[in-house]
Amino acid sequence: MFFCKHQTHKMSSYVLTRSFVGAAKKILWRTLHRPIHEAAESHQISNEEIQADLPVQLEKNPYEKPRVKCILCKYNIEPDYKNVRLLSQFQSRYTGRIYGRHITGLCKSKQAKVEHEILKAQNAGFMAYYFKDVTYVKDPQLFDPDHPFRPHNY
Ligand SMILES: [Zn+2]
Repeated sequence: MFFCKHQTHKMSSYVLTRSFVGAAKKILWRTLHRPIHEAAESHQISNEEIQADLPVQLEKNPYEKPRVKCILCKYNIEPDYKNVRLLSQFQSRYTGRIYGRHITGLCKSKQAKVEHEILKAQNAGFMAYYFKDVTYVKDPQLFDPDHPFRPHNY
């Protein structure tokens, strides 16, 4: 009899504690996961705050890469067969070879124009076929032939 009574008492306390923990959990859940409309009621959001939070339309792409211009396009220089000093910078001083696009870093149209004008100057006798004029040797370097702009096989 006594034993049975004690057992029931123990059971009831267990049920009580369990229900108390459950209620506490429910309250905690409600405070953490409060519906949005309840949160909005407790804090009045002004129109300015809403406007400030809206996504902003950018005029141009901030991640857009800057357009790379070749040196002749950058300074708006048109290669000409009479401008030997300029053309001689696109030719090797040792072999007379006209440097390729991978070395000069020119755009396709300017490179073709430079090659054409160099041939024209050579045919007109303004430029040497193999050797650079000594007076042009110390001219500033437009590019480094030993470190090409673009990788190549040789
Ligand atoms: Zn160009």
